[in-house]
Parts: sequence; structure tokens; C-alpha cells
Amino acid sequence: VIEVTARGLPADHWRPRLAAAAEPALPAGGFASIVVAVPHPDDETLGAGGLLHRLVHAPARPQVRVVFVTDGAAGYPGVDPGSAAHLAAERRREALAALGELGLGDADAVFLDRPDGGLTEPVEADLTRRLEAVLAERRADLCLAPWPLDPHPDHQAVGRAARAASAVHRTPLWQYPIWMRHSVPAAELGADEPRLRVLRLTEAEKAAKEAALRTHASQLRSPFPDYGPVLPEHVVDLFADGLEPFFVPAPE
Ligand SMILES: [Zn+2]
Repeated sequence: VIEVTARGLPADHWRPRLAAAAEPALPAGGFASIVVAVPHPDDETLGAGGLLHRLVHAPARPQVRVVFVTDGAAGYPGVDPGSAAHLAAERRREALAALGELGLGDADAVFLDRPDGGLTEPVEADLTRRLEAVLAERRADLCLAPWPLDPHPDHQAVGRAARAASAVHRTPLWQYPIWMRHSVPAAELGADEPRLRVLRLTEAEKAAKEAALRTHASQLRSPFPDYGPVLPEHVVDLFADGLEPFFVPAPE
């Protein structure tokens, strides 16, 4: 069996540090319009599931636009093209089911179907323009996007594109890390460290995040006999503690 995902850092490497971080400041009146940039189906839940659940259940529900960038076809590298296409279709269904668990509907999602693992420079430049247009059209007052230092090239590309796009309209940008807790030692945060904030999820938010994650079945149990899952239990554990980290804007 090919293990797609290595063992990584133990859960207690990051947990005490995250538990000690300050909470992000949420505006008293909530947000009006949120754009979420998501490299692969499942990153929305792993990275920001608890926050999204909280925001859409607030008295003033914001508009939300979730932009899924890649088709997620490369979760299991090396499978034949037919199986990869089948996987992409499955992951789209899983993404919509996950949004449902978080309290968002189908209408909030858009799928760009860019190649998983193939966000080359021209694709990234095009994505930047797209995101810029979405932020303007939606009059977004919050952009959620991957942390550009996350150790996955697609996460980095989407993170850079969102950073460039949100800078144009000075849209507040919260960056969610995904693989940080798995493979970035805490000592390597560098200049981003003062921007780290951690949302403490309520039991209801934790449960919704867990339910949303369970919809991503193709990642939790490999559909291919020769492969292990992309999200084995030891990785899922990293996200199950009710601590949701974000890198928020530095004070001006
Ligand atoms: Zn991802």
C-alpha cells in the first residue's frame, strides 16, 4: 500500500502553542460578505470549517462565496485518468455536502476546475484576476485563503493569488494553514508568528466541522486498494481539537 501522507509532527507539537495563542478579533457587527479561496475540496473544512459555521449562524448572516480552485483529481497520484476524473466528480459532491454541514448552501459554491497539482504561473496569474473580480463583485469585507507558506504547492499558489487580489481592494485577509501542524516546526514561523490567532470552537462548531469532514469520504478512506488515505486518522486528529488557527492582518 502506498502511503500518500507521511507521519508528520506529533499532535502535541503545535497543540500547546495554539492553545496559548490569542483569539482573532471578530467585528461586532459581523461580516457582510465573505469570499473563501479553497485549493482542494476538504481545505474549506480543515482550514475554516468552524469559523464559517460560526459566521453563517450569526444573527446577521453574511453572504458567502466559496471558490474551489482545483478539481482535486490528484489526491491519489498515479491512478488512471478515468479514475481521477471519477474522483474529481466525487470530491465535488463531497464539497457540497460539507458546505451543507457547515450551514452553507450549493449557491455559495463555485468550482474553477483548475488542474490539481498544476497551478503553474499563468494559471496563478489568471486565478489572481478571477479572485480580484470576485472580491469586487461581492464587495467582500473578508477573504479567507490558504496561508502562502503552507507546505503544498497548490496551497501556496492559491495563498499568493488571494494575497495579491485582496491587496487590490484592501480586503481584510485571514489565512488558514492546513499542513502547518503536520509538517512545519513551530520555530519556523518567522515573521508570521505575531499574526497567528486561534479561534476556539464551541462544541456545536466542533461537531459541525467533524460532520463536514466526514463527508470527504474519498480522503478519509482510500477508494483505491493500492493506496492509503490522504487524511489518515493521525492527520484528522490534528484538526479535531477545536483549535482553528488563522494568520490575520498585521496592525497598520
Ligand atoms: Zn488542499
